[in-house]
Amino acid sequence: MALSQNDILRALELVKLPASGQSLAASGRVGDILINDGKVIFAIGIDATEAGAMEPVRKAAESAVGGIPGVTQVLVGLTADKAPGRAPSQAAEARRQAHGQPAPGGPVPKAAGIPGVKQIIAVASGKGGVGKSTTTANLAVGLATLGLKVGVLDADIYGPSVPKIFGITGKPRLVSGRTLAPMEAYGLKIMSIGFLIDEETPMIWRGPMVISAITQMLREVAWGELDVLVVDMPPGTGDAQLTMAQQTPLAGAVIVSTPQDLALLDARRGVAMFRKVEVPILGIIENMSYFICPECGHRSDIFAHGGARHEAERQGVPFLGEIPLAMPIRETSDGGRPIVASDPDSAHAKAYVALARQVKAGLGGPARAAPRIVIE
Ligand code: ADP
Repeated sequence: MALSQNDILRALELVKLPASGQSLAASGRVGDILINDGKVIFAIGIDATEAGAMEPVRKAAESAVGGIPGVTQVLVGLTADKAPGRAPSQAAEARRQAHGQPAPGGPVPKAAGIPGVKQIIAVASGKGGVGKSTTTANLAVGLATLGLKVGVLDADIYGPSVPKIFGITGKPRLVSGRTLAPMEAYGLKIMSIGFLIDEETPMIWRGPMVISAITQMLREVAWGELDVLVVDMPPGTGDAQLTMAQQTPLAGAVIVSTPQDLALLDARRGVAMFRKVEVPILGIIENMSYFICPECGHRSDIFAHGGARHEAERQGVPFLGEIPLAMPIRETSDGGRPIVASDPDSAHAKAYVALARQVKAGLGGPARAAPRIVIE
């Protein structure tokens, strides 16, 4: 019999909150419950100050749901809308509002690093369909050809296409507890929400859900030692993306745009979003910059090429380069063989490697990775 939300909530009635003794099911803290075959994913809403106290609740929720017959996998995340910090007293909050003062924010809190992963970069776009995932994949293979140990995390939860681009089928193996082994292709370690959720599953994810799933993929995957982890971000600049940018310890962000004005407007929002959370912009890439006719090799600037370069100049961020709209890029990308790996001598592959070289150079500054603890 198919699992229902009620089955899950019934199991959560047995999980009690430490402070009040109230059941988790009745607490109103359980977000949307996503059920796909035997997999169950949901988030528990918390105040950031309760993170430590609520971790046992999260674990208890996982084992309660894991015990329901038919459940094969459970992913439960804690999500906090507010950054950690002491909540202001009601009186202080009333005073602040009465005086029209801004809400307390202070410096953006930085997410903790991931042990073994030296640097994490985001590949983002202001909107979908601009070739962000194709760029992520080829950039990642390009970074590997430069001698780096590279991982790819497909965080494009709305349309995870990384498994398809790398031609990966199958499911990641559980190595211990909740930790998954990444999949491997073309010398890269790869993880995608697409491995856990079927392509046809409608994805009506609330923002906090997205973040909790990503946080888990980031931290509960046995990445091993990586020089760079390239994160394929969900397109757009909404709250979910902003929080993800803030909660991922990013060393930098690459923005992919097509040259049209509307796409550039979205790219500008992307730059603003990363600036807001103090993530350095490594640069903008213009994808589908111009068209190369597969018959005669003639070049046409169908989208008024060059817009992203101007936009980068306006924004004072590096322009990383142009990738043409070209049939071999689409064919290899959609065929599970990124062009940098399948035709490394082609001009297109070289263009991606040139981008990778620029990204690598941009990362040359001080790494924002977790400190290494040496015990002597
Ligand atoms: P996004 O991740 O932004 O949604 P994708 O990388 O999935 O975009 O690309 C959307 C479609 O465009 C795919 O079919 C892909 O193969 C194709 N595509 C992306 N970049 C190029 C390019 N430079 N030339 C030709 N086709 C491309």
